[in-house]
Amino acid sequence: MRKVLVIGGGISGLTVAYWLYKSGLDVTLLEKEDRAGGSIRTEKDSGYLIECGPNSTLDLYNEVDDLCESLDLSEEKIYGNEGAKNRYVVRDGRLRPLPMGPLQFLSTDLWTIKGKLRLMCEPFIRKSNDSREESIAEFVIRRTGLEFLDYAIDPFVTGVFAGDPYQLSLKSCFPKMYGLEQDYGGLVKGALFGRKEKGEPRRKMRLFSFRDGLDILPVALCKVLGNRFVGGCNVLSVKKADSGFEIIAEAANTPIPLGTELNSVPETRTKIPSLSGRGWVIKADAVILATPSWATAKIIHPMTEYVAAHLSQIKYVPIVIVFTGFDRKHISHKLDGFGFLIPSKEAIAKGYNILGSIWSSATFPRRAPEGKAAFTNMLGGARMSDVPEHSDSELVDMTLQDLRLILGIKEKPDFVSVIRHTRAIPQYTIGHQERIDRVGKALKNIPGLYLTGNYITGISVGHCITEATKLAKSILTPNNPPLIKGD
Ligand SMILES: Cc1cc2nc3c(=O)[nH]c(=O)nc-3n(C[C@H](O)[C@H](O)[C@H](O)COP(=O)(O)OP(=O)(O)OC[C@H]3O[C@@H](n4cnc5c(N)ncnc54)[C@H](O)[C@@H]3O)c2cc1C
Repeated sequence: MRKVLVIGGGISGLTVAYWLYKSGLDVTLLEKEDRAGGSIRTEKDSGYLIECGPNSTLDLYNEVDDLCESLDLSEEKIYGNEGAKNRYVVRDGRLRPLPMGPLQFLSTDLWTIKGKLRLMCEPFIRKSNDSREESIAEFVIRRTGLEFLDYAIDPFVTGVFAGDPYQLSLKSCFPKMYGLEQDYGGLVKGALFGRKEKGEPRRKMRLFSFRDGLDILPVALCKVLGNRFVGGCNVLSVKKADSGFEIIAEAANTPIPLGTELNSVPETRTKIPSLSGRGWVIKADAVILATPSWATAKIIHPMTEYVAAHLSQIKYVPIVIVFTGFDRKHISHKLDGFGFLIPSKEAIAKGYNILGSIWSSATFPRRAPEGKAAFTNMLGGARMSDVPEHSDSELVDMTLQDLRLILGIKEKPDFVSVIRHTRAIPQYTIGHQERIDRVGKALKNIPGLYLTGNYITGISVGHCITEATKLAKSILTPNNPPLIKGD
């Protein structure tokens, strides 16, 4: 039986480890932190359920269904409240719902008449012949005009990537949108004819989470892996060995008691003298790196400087969450939506600090005590990349100031929690796909080494699960087309 080592216990690493383990492979997962889940973390405090990372994800992927089914979690799934469908965008200091249909489009004051007319010209805009890779902003301005970029796409990009649409690549961030122009000549034409042609059943765009928060998913995966999940283990490097790979790891924050067995590979475990007896040398036939790109770059640097150099070019933006709980009676807004996003233009004009606010308790049940309202407010991103330098109290003040201006909340919250992600979201900037393709090509020379994670083809939890599942399948059935892997 092949010994497989998965490095990184976020949702990507856990998913690939789970499917390989279920298929009978000898799998061990090494994770730096004591806990599993990576960016996904749910905490409970004072009656609030606090999502410290993702709040929910789109219910679009069969791979996610299969995983939930296999873990017996399908019954735990909850969907976004039907009465909280609106997505608000701030314009001229006021919340305006994004139109959901043609009638709302005509009546909305989110865009001016000029902006709407320009948007309606989209089907008549010719496909670009320029082979140069376009940013999201270039594409959207060319096809739909600046106003649609400023007051629809820019806030959407903030919501997904916390990024700058002028820096991010359309092809890498929104491959479907890119494909609509490539294949059908435009967005409207593609939306009308594309689906018909493919005969795809339309899956309802719904957000989901779990009754007790998103991290029941990593917790359930970790439970199945049992002592094959080794937490508190910082992997330092992976090198080619005579047959397979040699991995060097040390105890991370909390020292792993010496003598802890690394499950499937104990017979190859040896202490590394230079690490004062706290480290291991582990041998494996195959290695899957499910760590962020900057960590992956460090780990594989001794084996391939070329791949490491490409991966270290991927930039991450920071995010700080200021979670606030208010007395519901202090908020006059109906809270009939998922929350709001602030366009960059508006942030500059009005001096807002937050990127947006998710109305957690309006979207899902059991997120706040009776009579309270929970908001997950986000700061940072490409717009405020120095956010880690601000103190908690400064960030809380900035958040409360914006909530006062936008929602008119004058009273203090009765609960606040600040959660920091220094390197939160990888940015798929211009050239991203080319970088990933080169990495994939270089890995062909290193059979048995595989990469997965949110920096490759998709940021969302659903994307990560889907890609990790595909990777597991391709490892199990070697004739399948490879994803990012060496053989
Ligand atoms: C604040 C925030 C909000 C988000 N909101 C949403 C949302 O609402 N919906 C959505 O779908 N997605 C959202 N996302 C994105 C999504 O959560 C992530 O893209 C996804 O969870 C990433 O999973 P991953 O396993 O690829 O990486 P990670 O979760 O980053 O996991 C990588 C793991 O590798 C470990 N590691 C790193 N270095 C080493 C090492 N040397 N040795 C061993 N282990 C190591 C890390 O500790 C970590 O556990 C959000 C992300 C953030 C940060």
